[in-house]
Amino acid sequence: MPNYDYRCADCGYEFSVKMKMAEHGRTPVFCPLCQSTRVVQCISAVNVRTSRKS
Ligand SMILES: [Zn+2]
Repeated sequence: MPNYDYRCADCGYEFSVKMKMAEHGRTPVFCPLCQSTRVVQCISAVNVRTSRKS
């Protein structure tokens, strides 16, 4: 089962959720700290937070 990384837009807490691919995008994800549903997915290893030097 893949792990999906999320970050809470409200409190900034980062967490990962294990769910089936079929559930991903359908299952509501909320922050375990503040129960906010304003979470953004962080796709690890794929062009997120690339150290781009300008
Ligand atoms: Zn939160």
